[in-house]
Amino acid sequence: MPRLTSTLRPFAWALAAPLSLLLWSCGAGEVEAGEHVRPRVVCTTAMVGDLVREIAGEEADVTVLFGADVDPHLFRPTRDDVAAITAASVVFHSGYGLEAYLEPTLAKIADGGTTVVALAPNIADETELSSETEGVVDPHLWMDVKLWARCCDVIASTLPVNGARERADALRSELLALDAEVEAVVATIPQRSRVLITAHDAFAYFGRRYGVEVHAVQGVSTASEAGLRAIEELVDLIVAREAPAVFFESTVSERNVRALVEGAGSRGHTVAIGGVLHSDAPGEARTYAAMIRHNARTIADALGGDAASVTEPEGPAQ
Ligand SMILES: [Zn+2]
Repeated sequence: MPRLTSTLRPFAWALAAPLSLLLWSCGAGEVEAGEHVRPRVVCTTAMVGDLVREIAGEEADVTVLFGADVDPHLFRPTRDDVAAITAASVVFHSGYGLEAYLEPTLAKIADGGTTVVALAPNIADETELSSETEGVVDPHLWMDVKLWARCCDVIASTLPVNGARERADALRSELLALDAEVEAVVATIPQRSRVLITAHDAFAYFGRRYGVEVHAVQGVSTASEAGLRAIEELVDLIVAREAPAVFFESTVSERNVRALVEGAGSRGHTVAIGGVLHSDAPGEARTYAAMIRHNARTIADALGGDAASVTEPEGPAQ
């Protein structure tokens, strides 16, 4: 699927900001709040919405469409969702096919003049993208916190509200501190145990940034079913590498990961369930920063590391 025509590239930011101001001055997509007129902003996932909320502060009316347990690959918009998107002046989404069923709606409102920004295509060049299958870009860029921190600039450039630049700079610093924390937590895992096995292929950027080999039963989207062969190959790998743990994901069925545990068990290798990771939605962690911290610490502890030896810096997940 081609990138949305409205997707902003860095060179288009200068154009985007005045356009947004123009739209808001017309009265479309605004919320009256006392003397303040605030733009209506809609975001898809929490990974996008948490950053936008922080940078918008009190200066915009920000709605996050997807709930904390929603699988974005499978999300189908209701009539209310379409109404919320249509009423917005700016829509931020993740991109690269993550919100596959929402893309026709986004393309339509972009054609109608709404500013629609896909964050992922604006923060990485082609050499930084992961593509397991040729032609399919892995959309899970938020798993590399240092990479995802670049969203702060894109959001601040698109939302020309009071204080956006200052809040974006502060948030970027917090995210870079989180990135360093994750790096330190993963570094506690013994080298030979740094093998992360999950339900779907959401951790490639995590693995690349923090130095973990990653494998998954399903591909980069949960929309396709896992084959028996994929499970057999992973069982082979678990047994050969004596992997200590495999992991559930909060937005994906546990069935395939349980099949791995049973398969390894029948071959004489006991592999533990390392815990539940939040790959594509924050779940009980509730925020982007907390989900990343939860994932890193859960993975480290289950693979023989010592997460508690790394202190948590002050930050957005506190
Ligand atoms: Zn995913």
